[in-house]
Amino acid sequence: MKDLLFGTAGIPWSAKSGDTMGGIKEVKKLGLGSMELEFVRSINIRESKTPEVKTAAEKENIVLSAHGPYWVNLNAQKRETLEASRRWVLQSGRTAALCGAWSICFHAAYYMKQPHGSVYGQVKKELEAAVKQLRGEGLSIWIRPELGGKMSQFGGLEEIVRISAETEGVMPCIDFAHQHARSMGKHNSYNDWSADLALVEKHLGREGLENMHIHAAGIEYGMSGERNHVNLNDCKLNYTDLVQAWKDYKIKGVVISESPNIEEDALLLQKTYNELK
Ligand SMILES: [Zn+2]
Repeated sequence: MKDLLFGTAGIPWSAKSGDTMGGIKEVKKLGLGSMELEFVRSINIRESKTPEVKTAAEKENIVLSAHGPYWVNLNAQKRETLEASRRWVLQSGRTAALCGAWSICFHAAYYMKQPHGSVYGQVKKELEAAVKQLRGEGLSIWIRPELGGKMSQFGGLEEIVRISAETEGVMPCIDFAHQHARSMGKHNSYNDWSADLALVEKHLGREGLENMHIHAAGIEYGMSGERNHVNLNDCKLNYTDLVQAWKDYKIKGVVISESPNIEEDALLLQKTYNELK
């Protein structure tokens, strides 16, 4: 990635047509650089439609990313659920890659009350298999376990950065709102955000800092972590310091706004970034 691009989780509210093509056009019109395809509830783009999406994104010069289904749990204890999770990862990754998406993230697993070390091994094995399968089909897309917002979710920053360092084709998706929620709001200063980026640099080098898939949003949390997303200006997340850390570490990649107001916070983050020194 040559720049840090800002974009929307799904189709902007202001789009006249609620389909992917309309979304891509609107993202361009808003002056943003990327859009995330939301396969969170269903993989809602048919394979026959994917070339059209790819062409539209290329024409508008919009970088696409994707978010896989919420139901994925690569540490599922029931065989059928594990097999379904594998299919969801592959099918969403395949569809995203055919749309020309650069990266796909998903909430990889739940700990299911198991030791974190053994869950790590299980998730790593599943991610390796997914990368191998997609590459075997001639598809190229970054596979990204996302930083989980709930304590019960696999995906602390250390886990996803380490798994990325150890697994070809895998990089982290860093959700800074989740990082804030996981610490129950304590993780919120310039030094905290900088430490996150320093950890990425330590394990993944400059390459990691220049290949970032980021989620940002306002967030509310409780004892078990993430509760729900709110707009940035309606919560205590210190986004100015967060953006300053992005600037100082000269990161590149894509920042996706998952706030309820979608494009407004994408534009707010972009404006903040452009105005900071
Ligand atoms: Zn997510």
